[in-house]
Amino acid sequence: MINKLICAVMLIGVSSGCTSPSVSPPPTDVIAEPRTIIWTTIKAAEVAALNADLQAGKPTVDVGLYYPSNLHEDARAILPLEGLLEEFANAKRVFEPTGIQLNLLWLKTGTVDPGFLAINSTSDRSQMPSGGYGNLYVQRSQTPSELSDGALAAFEGIIEPADNNSRTVYLLALQNVYMTFFENLDDTGRNWAPKVVNTSGLSFPSYMYGDTIPDRIRGVITLTKHDSKNKLTIAHELGHKLINVSHEYKAIGPQHEIRSDEGLMLYGSGSQIPSGKEGRWHQERLLLSPYLYRLDKTGKQIWNADYEAGGFYYDPLYGDYTIAFE
Ligand SMILES: [Zn+2]
Repeated sequence: MINKLICAVMLIGVSSGCTSPSVSPPPTDVIAEPRTIIWTTIKAAEVAALNADLQAGKPTVDVGLYYPSNLHEDARAILPLEGLLEEFANAKRVFEPTGIQLNLLWLKTGTVDPGFLAINSTSDRSQMPSGGYGNLYVQRSQTPSELSDGALAAFEGIIEPADNNSRTVYLLALQNVYMTFFENLDDTGRNWAPKVVNTSGLSFPSYMYGDTIPDRIRGVITLTKHDSKNKLTIAHELGHKLINVSHEYKAIGPQHEIRSDEGLMLYGSGSQIPSGKEGRWHQERLLLSPYLYRLDKTGKQIWNADYEAGGFYYDPLYGDYTIAFE
């Protein structure tokens, strides 16, 4: 039973820096604009109850939750809305010891383009084994993952334009989000086999994607399976997005899948967010996240500084709060 979702670690992408000549596409390439989604705000009382303990002046993360009304009934069964609200409440408790509070902006539902409901997480051309030089974070900054066309269309279509789009986390309930990674078959670094994982949650973190994701939608997190046992998928995915690290904890360096009952960023029942160098600076990195703000006395949002170099693991934003390893 997979508890805290599957997220990407072994993916290495090619740079999205290539450009194509600007010519008009032939008529056959013209695709109809997707219809605008009519979103309806629901469960306002439950959302207000979840936010009842928010305090002005504390570091805060704004989160919106989109729950399409046309999810397949079997998908609704494994991703029940009530379960997601439970997970959100749990995530608040997980982050509370760090002094950070989560603000659920709203919960919206509406009919989306059915093509948005099942997507691949990355483009084919950005899939590459992790057999290169430097640690995984270094490799990823050299060859970032990039969104597949389907993921890009879905996120652009679902996430409504709004102030602070790029500073807001958006939880998207979907049916299937597939992630391809490569398995080293014999530890020689010579032979690799692709594996496709049907994820439970995916955070599209900056340490993997850098600035290949348009700023407006960079806060996206997909959810496809409720963690009915530990109820930690949302907290874990928020950890990837906000701490901006892979699956690592204390002496355990980033790996694809590792199970433990300690550490929010490992698979299992753990929810610790350690601090200090021995804690891989998780708490310190979290507090520097560009998704955090504080309200000043006039009610104005004072945002943390933004990433300086795409938001990869070693972004200068983090100063000394990184671990050098091979
Ligand atoms: Zn993960």
